[in-house]
Amino acid sequence: MTHRIILIAGIGHSGSTLLDMALGCHPRIVGLGEVSKVLRTPLDELRGERYRQSLCSCGAVARDCPFWSGLLAWLEDNPTLSLEQKYCRVLEQFSQHFGPDTRLLDSSKTVRPYQAWLKQQHDLRAIHLTRDVRSWIDSRLRGNDPRDKGGTLRLAARWWRGNRRTERFLARHGINTFNLGYEELALQPAIMLETLCQWLGLEFDPAMLTPSATSSHIIRGNAARQDRSRIAAIRYDARWMTSSRLMLQSPLLLPLAARNRRLVYANTRGAGRK
Ligand SMILES: [Zn+2]
Repeated sequence: MTHRIILIAGIGHSGSTLLDMALGCHPRIVGLGEVSKVLRTPLDELRGERYRQSLCSCGAVARDCPFWSGLLAWLEDNPTLSLEQKYCRVLEQFSQHFGPDTRLLDSSKTVRPYQAWLKQQHDLRAIHLTRDVRSWIDSRLRGNDPRDKGGTLRLAARWWRGNRRTERFLARHGINTFNLGYEELALQPAIMLETLCQWLGLEFDPAMLTPSATSSHIIRGNAARQDRSRIAAIRYDARWMTSSRLMLQSPLLLPLAARNRRLVYANTRGAGRK
């Protein structure tokens, strides 16, 4: 049986939580978060506190979630199977639970070989989500991650490498890809979600503009930890515009301008012009 899978690809801090939750509000899409992270969980961690205490985005404890509970028990019984074999079981369970017409949304982000395998077996479509390099650097500098203290140039290089790797992987494996910018999504959500639905062969549903109403089952990934009231509506995080540091250092980012325009503003009229 051919399953329809949507993958959110790209680097962290690119707005994937917002996209994940907005898509998860569509009646024909169910988000499962970072599926590969769940399937790669070591056995001792699977049996440990993580899944007994943490919540699924549906509100239940992961172990009691109507979708994941049976699968978590099955994963415990089958620790030696390959990631692909485990994914097959997720797909079976998914169509039994939600029906064959429902799209599975996998927000694993990092590109990995199993996605090339998924493409060969099923109808896989990827949304490569990219945040404007200026906004991405500012968001990382505002966080508490010690890896982000290296300064603007090092962060710019990370943005460049991560997005180039994603772009090359998706092209190399011939995966049908939609380039979406976080700024396009957050600044004109209705237009972009409608365009995305068209590309997915689905009717746009205005419920997608209220991401907190998602019906996803996310036990690993950002959306599982989010306070739903914070994403009741889609809003653009414009804090980077007030950064004097970025204003001063912006000439350093010029070599990234073409890739930034191509990936982040692919759907914005006139963005292709130099
Ligand atoms: Zn759940």
